[in-house]
Amino acid sequence: MAKIITNMVKCNHCGSVIESVYRHDFVWCSCKKVAVDGGTEYLRRVFSVPSDYTEMSKEDRTVEEAAAKKAKAASKKKGKK
Ligand SMILES: [Zn+2]
Repeated sequence: MAKIITNMVKCNHCGSVIESVYRHDFVWCSCKKVAVDGGTEYLRRVFSVPSDYTEMSKEDRTVEEAAAKKAKAASKKKGKK
């Protein structure tokens, strides 16, 4: 699984950008339509419909990318012979 670097969304109603910094950091936007929770442990979202917010979180996919690259290189090698 990708590692969470930033747990952040932007509210599409009031424009607030909110970030959950640690696991039990539950943060509402200023109009109370959207909230984030979970910090870098998990991405928890509170909303009515998905269009309430814009996802702004960042995840570290370097481990996954390295694995994908390795797999690709391995399959390429196989294809040549
Ligand atoms: Zn809002």
